[in-house]
Amino acid sequence: MLSEADAVVVGAGALGLSVGYHLAKLGMGRVAILDQFAAASQTSPRAAGLFKLIQADEARTRLAQLSVHKVTHFEQESGVPLPVVRSGSLMMARTPQHADLVRTEAERSAAWGIGLELVDKHEANRLAPFLEPKGIQVACHTAADVYIEEPSSLLRAYLQAAELRGATIVPDTRVTGIRLRGNEVLGVLTDQGELATPVVVDAAGAWARRVGELAQAVVPVMPVRHQLLITKPIDGVEAAHPILRIVDSAVYVRPARGGLMLGGFEADPLPLDIRGEDQKFSIQDVPLDVSVLHRLGAMVEVSVPALRGAPVDEHRGGLFTMTPDGQLIVGPHPIVRGFWVATGCNGSGFSLSPGIGQVLAEWIVQGAPSIDLTSCAPDRFRSRAFDDEQLRSAGVWQYAHWAADKGPDNVERRYTSLDQARTKYAALFVWIDSQA
Ligand SMILES: Cc1cc2nc3c(=O)[nH]c(=O)nc-3n(C[C@H](O)[C@H](O)[C@H](O)COP(=O)(O)OP(=O)(O)OC[C@H]3O[C@@H](n4cnc5c(N)ncnc54)[C@H](O)[C@@H]3O)c2cc1C
Repeated sequence: MLSEADAVVVGAGALGLSVGYHLAKLGMGRVAILDQFAAASQTSPRAAGLFKLIQADEARTRLAQLSVHKVTHFEQESGVPLPVVRSGSLMMARTPQHADLVRTEAERSAAWGIGLELVDKHEANRLAPFLEPKGIQVACHTAADVYIEEPSSLLRAYLQAAELRGATIVPDTRVTGIRLRGNEVLGVLTDQGELATPVVVDAAGAWARRVGELAQAVVPVMPVRHQLLITKPIDGVEAAHPILRIVDSAVYVRPARGGLMLGGFEADPLPLDIRGEDQKFSIQDVPLDVSVLHRLGAMVEVSVPALRGAPVDEHRGGLFTMTPDGQLIVGPHPIVRGFWVATGCNGSGFSLSPGIGQVLAEWIVQGAPSIDLTSCAPDRFRSRAFDDEQLRSAGVWQYAHWAADKGPDNVERRYTSLDQARTKYAALFVWIDSQA
């Protein structure tokens, strides 16, 4: 066990490994990346591996652009090879209302510099032959979107790249306390001993709120389950076919191992506050429920008929870290000096990890990030204390509305009335109203 470091990253998932690699690359000195379990073993290797350039705001768009550039040039940058599939993607609308949404998102993203094209159903079918064109109103083709076939390959690449730059990976070491002098970080306590450091990065995924509490910092994330399945190989599906995102049902489909991967966002997801769980709890213990995926699959089988009855090769799942406003939490804690946060993935932590790692490391080492991350700053929660119910309701609401515009208007798209939504998520609306 080390006794001193210039920076300690808590968590060796996609976010922690990327931050650790970039800190070492930018000359931070002795960087230690600690994990309570094996490195790269929790939510990150269970991701779908999708990268998406169409994002809800400019800061995320810039992070997504940087991230796609970095993974497609990973070997040039780090010396470690990384296979990436340049498949492109199709975001598809099957109702006039969702066609408006696709057009609006396309227009907004184009203004932020994303190359994309609106295509009709015939062109969508030419690009993705496993897509049934009937019923498709419009699709947005983003040619530069990519996916990583096996997400664990990005984690292995980060691990190798971090070690090549001199970072130390410390598995099976749980951070149990953060030593403070006044409001300043002095070190971390672990179940293997104490480590002195002036910089701690909370990249603890589903445990990020708990790690924040060790430093008396509010890190308001609520873990919410997300699942996917991969079918056995299907004739005619090729790796280079595009990722499909079907907006009305919040479902994604991509080629995977010769078959298709299906994942999506149910309207009634399962929050899982691991603060109530045993210390041994790991992502392997998240209860999976394939019926959720069967329900989502049934909503899109008319457009992707090959999914109907396709035998399942793998079913996996993990935890998103949802935040009350659906935005990342990345940056310095406003009160605790030396305490930094990289979490609040809201479902995009795998694909944004290359950019977040670089930009947060710039901020720590050089004093400023090259992308303005004001909208992601932990500072926005400075004066807020969230009770468990508020966080749970907000996390569930953000998850259920992930794929479309957020805001009360959109609630009506999924629920028959706003009143119904207000009843279902009463605590959240109290909170939203109090922010107005
Ligand atoms: C099924 C599924 C599909 C997904 N698909 C995508 C996708 O296509 N694209 C995308 O961008 N995102 C996707 N996501 C989201 C993505 O996986 C997450 O955003 C990302 O993996 C979060 O990374 P992380 O490093 O925060 O979490 P993790 O990978 O969970 O890492 C956190 C680490 O912190 C460690 N830790 C916690 N507490 C402590 C402690 N006290 N001491 C030491 N270590 C500690 C944990 O052991 C863990 O290893 C998906 C998620 C799921 C579940």
